[in-house]
Amino acid sequence: MDDCIFCKIVSRESSADIVYEDDDSIAFKDINEQAPIHILLIPKKHIRSVVEIEEEDLQLIGHLVSVANKIADQTGISEKGFRLVLNTGLESGQSVWHIHIHLLGGRKMAWPPG
Ligand code: AMP
Repeated sequence: MDDCIFCKIVSRESSADIVYEDDDSIAFKDINEQAPIHILLIPKKHIRSVVEIEEEDLQLIGHLVSVANKIADQTGISEKGFRLVLNTGLESGQSVWHIHIHLLGGRKMAWPPG
């Protein structure tokens, strides 16, 4: 997608603090961190949002969760806990239309979220 900032991070047209990459996914630090650990996990495939996930993408989404788990382990937040967030649509606050999982941790989280 030409005008997608996350696709540009995948193609290296835009820079990011990349912490993990494999054939199908990439993870980088959120530019506007909301917690001591705030990493975004994205598929390299451009999928606009959760509502556009198709049957063929299910393995890919599972893979992203597994990568999140791995990064949580590597950053030492697995035991204390962390939050995975998939904002979906305007009312959720989704601002980038390339599906992404926020991995947040390193502090006590509040509930309900704002
Ligand atoms: P959302 O509001 O769920 O769509 O989250 C989008 C996230 O992407 C926000 O937390 C932004 O801070 C983050 N973000 C936007 N552009 C960049 C970028 N170039 N590098 C890293 N994070 C970004």
